[in-house]
This record gives sequence, C-alpha cells and structure tokens, in this order.
Amino acid sequence: MKVLLVILETALVALAADDCSSPIPFDPNALDPSDIFNSSDSLFGRATDAFCPQWFRTLWPRHANNAVMIPICFDSFDHMNRFHPILRLAVAKWVAPAILGAPGPATGHGINFVTYGGEEKGCIIDDGAGGKMWNPTIWRFALRITEGQSVPGADGANTAEATTGFSMQLDHGHYNTLQVKGYPDHVAVAHELGHVLGLKHEHQRIDRDKYMKYDCTKIQGYDKAFEEAKKKGKEHLLCTDPAVAIEFKFIGHAFTSSFPKKGDYDIKSIMHYPSDYFGTPACKENAKIDNCPMVKYKDPNDHAAGTEVILLNNIPSKLDIEWVKQHYPYVPPPPPSTQQSPHP
Ligand SMILES: [Zn+2]
Repeated sequence: MKVLLVILETALVALAADDCSSPIPFDPNALDPSDIFNSSDSLFGRATDAFCPQWFRTLWPRHANNAVMIPICFDSFDHMNRFHPILRLAVAKWVAPAILGAPGPATGHGINFVTYGGEEKGCIIDDGAGGKMWNPTIWRFALRITEGQSVPGADGANTAEATTGFSMQLDHGHYNTLQVKGYPDHVAVAHELGHVLGLKHEHQRIDRDKYMKYDCTKIQGYDKAFEEAKKKGKEHLLCTDPAVAIEFKFIGHAFTSSFPKKGDYDIKSIMHYPSDYFGTPACKENAKIDNCPMVKYKDPNDHAAGTEVILLNNIPSKLDIEWVKQHYPYVPPPPPSTQQSPHP
C-alpha cells in the first residue's frame, strides 16, 4: 500500500508540475501563471476565464452584509502616493455611472473596491528584526499593489500584471496582487482589474481563429525566442504551447488559444488585445496591419472579405459588464435577526 501511495504521490506531483505547482513568477505581461492552463471553473461564465484548481482561484467573497468587497492596499505609503492616482482612474473605468455604476439593486451588481489609506496602512511593514512582514491591520487576502522592475526602453517597460480572481492560498506568497511597472496607462491597469475580477483574455478563446487572423511570428521577440527554442528542439511548440513560450521568455504565451468559449466572441472586451499589442516596430510605426500580430476578419464567415485593425478597447464592454453582474450580483443584506436574545 505504501508503495502505491508513493507512486500515486509521484504521479500527482508530476501532474502538478505540468499544471499549477510552478513557482508563482509574474509573467512578462498582464498575466498570472494560471493563464497558461486550460482548466475552467463552472463558477465562471464567460469566455476566457480559466483557473488552476489547485490554486483555489475563485470569485471574490462576500461579507456578512452580502457586499463583495475588494480591499486594496499598497506596499508602502510611497507606493500609495505614486500609484493611487492611476489605480483610481482604472477603478473608475469599471464603476463609472455609464459602466457598472454604484453597487446596489438599481445596477444589479455588488462590487466594492475599497482602498486602505494612510501612512500606517501599507501592506508590508518592518518586522522589527530586519525583515518584512504583512501588516496585521490589513486583511490578509487584500489585493496588494506592488511595484515591479521596469527597464527603461525594454519591452513592457510600462505595464502591469495581475493575478486572476481571488485566492486564499498563501503557500507561494501573496496571491492577490497587481504589479505596476513604470508608468502604465490607466486603461492597462483597468484591464488588470478585469483579471482581478476573474476575467481572462478574450483573444485566447479556442474559437478565436474564426474572428481573428493571428500571426505569432509578428510578435516582438519571436526571432530570438525561435532561435533559442530551436537549440532545444522545441521551436515547433513556441507558438502553440504557452509553457514553451514562457520557457523562452516569449510573450506569445499571452496569445495562445486554449480557453473555452462561452457566449459570443467579444472583440470589444477590455480583455481583448488591440492589433498593436506586443507588435514589432513594423506594426506600430508603419501602421501596416499585415505586420501586426492580430487583426480581425471583416466577416468571420467569409475570411476572403479581408481584415481590419483591432482598436484598443478603453472601457469594459457590454458583455464585460454583463459578466460582472452575472458573477457578482447585488444581494441584499440579510434581514435583522428575528430571534429574541436570551438575555434582554
Ligand atoms: Zn491581460
């Protein structure tokens, strides 16, 4: 029996190594490692929301009053001063009156973004022994806004990354995180908040090739990654296997199609990349769409009709909003207890 258990454990470890047990580095884009997995969770209704079950990523929980709270803290007061303005703009992209509006019965959603403020409310504090620790006055599972290394002039110098959905697992550090590098556009941070809510990339749906023409070789860094992958005999997997793309530090992993399709394909989603994301200068500067990684078909049912550019979606789409309302609906507070106190 013991031998069997050992074998079973080994098998599980091997399985996990292929799936979700890798360290939790941030990928070089607006992705968390669960992006590379093709699992789905019945909790999540639309499009490209795939989760790694072992990480227990779920919807954000509700408080006793049934409100969905997404508490946000910054690593330090300095981070708060620097990043709060952009975060506020990004949150506004979601909660503006014309988009989600305020939570409640009129809008039908229950989402509350709540930011910890004040000098004493950094997520991370000195532990008194030369190290750092989580601030005990901050909820342990708050969304942590942290700063990543930005290399001026490099790809992704001004970008953001986030984990997807909510997790209470702490084995690999803090799991609910939004990382800012340099000075990203607040639309990019709003896209990250979509990940935080639980949304994945729309353009990674398994049926996307009907709607979009994708050319992996047009992504920046392709040639270098191809040469490196070739040395290990993996070049044929570079554009289709996200784990291989990550192995060779190729941002193509943010484009591989594997997520289940649910509902209509939404090219207007804030979770859909525009044509020029991670394109080369031939796409960005020459504005020639044939040189871009992704363009959309004018007619998904007749590809011969040609292609056109995919513009940046700078606000959540109608279907993004529907998804939020469906998964985080407004729930009224429970009625006051009608039980009599035994000790009036
Ligand atoms: Zn993203």
